[in-house]
Amino acid sequence: MRIDRLCWEFNRDCKLTNVVDKVNEIIDCIWMNKYEIREYVKDFFKDVEMCKRCVQPVTRPKVYFNEEGICGACLWEEQKKGINWEEREKELSGIVKWAKKEASKRGSYDCVIGVSGGKDSTFTALYARDRLGLNCLLVNAAPAQQTRIGQHNIDNLLSLGFDVVTLKVNPIFLRKLIRKDFYEHLNTSKPTEYPLWASSYQMALGYNIPLVIQGENAALTLGVRKDGSSLDGNAIMGGSINTRSGGNAFEVYGGYDGIDEKDLLLYKFPSIELLKKADVHAIWLQYYAREWSQYGNARVAIMNGMHVRDDTLSNLGRIHKWSCLDNDFHMVNQFFKFVKLGFGFATDEVCYDIREGLLTREQGLELVEKYDGLVGDEYIKCFCDYVGIGFDEFFKVVMKWLPKKKQ
Ligand SMILES: [Zn+2]
Repeated sequence: MRIDRLCWEFNRDCKLTNVVDKVNEIIDCIWMNKYEIREYVKDFFKDVEMCKRCVQPVTRPKVYFNEEGICGACLWEEQKKGINWEEREKELSGIVKWAKKEASKRGSYDCVIGVSGGKDSTFTALYARDRLGLNCLLVNAAPAQQTRIGQHNIDNLLSLGFDVVTLKVNPIFLRKLIRKDFYEHLNTSKPTEYPLWASSYQMALGYNIPLVIQGENAALTLGVRKDGSSLDGNAIMGGSINTRSGGNAFEVYGGYDGIDEKDLLLYKFPSIELLKKADVHAIWLQYYAREWSQYGNARVAIMNGMHVRDDTLSNLGRIHKWSCLDNDFHMVNQFFKFVKLGFGFATDEVCYDIREGLLTREQGLELVEKYDGLVGDEYIKCFCDYVGIGFDEFFKVVMKWLPKKKQ
């Protein structure tokens, strides 16, 4: 349809004789706008298989589905009902006891927790200190272009009475890596994920801290199981698993545009051997805490001073305003995910809410239809300014990643 219209316009305006060839020649220079892209993607993935209980699509990388078509996250929700939480509480209190004893021997903090100041990390920090009685060191690996709300939420943790270390990687190199990943993978989250996941383990080694506490285990919450993720409470492999799909940071980025290994030390996840030698243990709090939930964590964090997004759901492409608060590239990256895989962040949130009994599947599908794949122009502009490109270049690259219909 587009080509026909274009042909007609060329024919009329330019009086070109070989219009179709000319159009084929310049078709690479024509880009759809974000709404047209959204419609194209929705149409392309309209028959994709989904979990029978939530709306999780099979296109999520490494997702697990059982033979009845139920996703791993829904299976976990079912398993939760049969969990003996008292047993887990006992196991956790044994770990806490050990960490305190070790810390007093080592003269260090009891535990280290990676924080963004968002709902999960604020909940984790408060739970560790106030419920478990741990002396916590919080580590914030700041993202590229931290938002005002993100900074407020880190300051909020300080005002709640925590020690916080902020790590900032070289912004010039980070920008280069994000730009590289935009062009090569249309996924710009990896360069910030490496330091984010590595930092708490690095701090544990550096400060001789016995325990690392991670919040959410994606193997449980997203139903991702095909990468060897553990389903127990042990998070010693947590950081490496969450970045494993991108490989080791040195292998992925070393040597690129003047960046070598010594420039990527904050991106490096310590080896398991090194962590074992230093007797560092790590746990997923989600595994042990019965109270862990998206809504519950958000409520606790907001009640304790966390700020949420001040924008419309259509601009955010979400159904809640309480997630991923510390950088604006998240919305753009979720748009990229939508383009490549046919689902964005609204789908993720809807899945959480269906599993927590807050939405029916039908209500969830309506919300996905309404919000998934949307992104505000200001976020796209912010990203374009950061990587030094215009809107035309942005959409030209995005269009290259659109799934192609079979002829
Ligand atoms: Zn499901």
